[in-house]
Amino acid sequence: MDTKQFKEAAQSALEEITQYYDTLAERPTLPSISPGYLKPLLPTSAPEKGEAWETIQADIDRVIMPGLTHWQSPKYMAFFPCNSSYPAMLGEMYSSAFNAAAFNWICSPAVTELETIVMDWVAKLLNLPECYLSDGEGGGIIQGTASEVIVTAVVAARERLIRRRLADMPEGEEKIDKAAELRGKLVAMGSEHAHSSTQKAAMIAGTRFRKVPAPKETGFSVTGQALRQTIEECKAKGLEPFYFTATLGSTATCAVDDLAGIAEVAREYPDVWIHVDAAYAGSALVCPEYQHLCPPMADFDSFNFNMHKWLLVNFDCSAFYIKKRKNLIDTYSLTPSYLRNEYAEKGLVTDYHNWQIPLGRRFRSLKVWFVLRSYGVEGLRAFIRNHIKLGEYFHGLVKSRSDLFTVVTGPHFALTTFSVNPRRLGGAAAANKPDPSHEAYLNDFTPSADAQYQEDANQITKEVYEKVNAQGEFFLTSTVVCGIYV
Ligand code: PLP
Repeated sequence: MDTKQFKEAAQSALEEITQYYDTLAERPTLPSISPGYLKPLLPTSAPEKGEAWETIQADIDRVIMPGLTHWQSPKYMAFFPCNSSYPAMLGEMYSSAFNAAAFNWICSPAVTELETIVMDWVAKLLNLPECYLSDGEGGGIIQGTASEVIVTAVVAARERLIRRRLADMPEGEEKIDKAAELRGKLVAMGSEHAHSSTQKAAMIAGTRFRKVPAPKETGFSVTGQALRQTIEECKAKGLEPFYFTATLGSTATCAVDDLAGIAEVAREYPDVWIHVDAAYAGSALVCPEYQHLCPPMADFDSFNFNMHKWLLVNFDCSAFYIKKRKNLIDTYSLTPSYLRNEYAEKGLVTDYHNWQIPLGRRFRSLKVWFVLRSYGVEGLRAFIRNHIKLGEYFHGLVKSRSDLFTVVTGPHFALTTFSVNPRRLGGAAAANKPDPSHEAYLNDFTPSADAQYQEDANQITKEVYEKVNAQGEFFLTSTVVCGIYV
């Protein structure tokens, strides 16, 4: 493809993409194809001769579109959102055009320096404690996903603990043996409602994992006391708790752990690295009315939120902040001769590959920069507040039909979870009720705490959920929290 052909192809792709966005609301959110739909539509091997762009582009409509779930549709209510915006798409386009594996400063100074600047802009926008800014001992780095951030934090926490514990030992076999022994005792912790990425990170880091209870009575949030108790239980068994993920906006209900209480625990146990995972809800911190959540973070070690979830930056973009960048650099710096450069050796520049697991880096800060400049702080706040308002509206609608639905949690950051009242809607479980209670049961719409009610509610809620998704128009997500199907 030469420049002229590229210009024509890009123009035509642009037409199709904008048309897609303009008609999104008219499409069912879920595709109506079956698993394996694609194989019969495509040849069994790559074409021998190159094809014209028109032929390739025609297949977007023919083979790709039928298999798309439309995440950008206003009828998409599943999981957490994955917002996109035109400025972010332009950022992706330039990043792709400047294509580089910009792992250190000299590999493209703009990639490194813009990232440092926009990450500071974002930290200020969220009103994060100043310790997370790059002009002190901290700083921000962009990673692909929250899961990558969490594994990076868990491994850094593990290595920090080992360094601290074995600081007085001389290098050698004995130290290596001691480190291996210590590794076997390490425990990473997360709320029972923390995203599974924490457990996965513990698995990758080769440590144990313990769930900290977060029952219905605390609104599914971990309290400082619950964390303290889990730490003490681990210690009583001779184990070494070294890491905890506090959640700001849990996946199932958007619960916020008791950050102030956890900050006290952080001060009591300085060897436990506390990371705040705010993957979805962190974007709300652009609004001053949510920034009261930020001060406890001064006592924690790291924080992340996904700008690709709720801040108009296209996937992928997880903002990772660290209070002491040295804790990453001491873990991840391995600089063979081919990566050495005079700028880094003189301490003049940041080489972000020393803060993370991969070497190569995408130019992700460009799309962040475009979004921040295109929307401005005001635009981003208005965007979040509109979603919060819509969430409250939805919550009001559900609540106004308390004969049919029970709000289980929320609205929290635009998320409401609810269940279906089994008594009013009947369903298999209710239908099995022996007479004469059946009639009375169906006509009573007061939620109850008894186990039979919960079992019936779970069953009917699942049925309703499956019916909605089977129609394909809307896409919802269900989950089970502490035995409640929502
Ligand atoms: N943390 C929380 C609280 C989440 O809700 C999610 C996903 O929804 C994740 C982490 C994982 O996100 P990612 O896909 O960026 O790894």
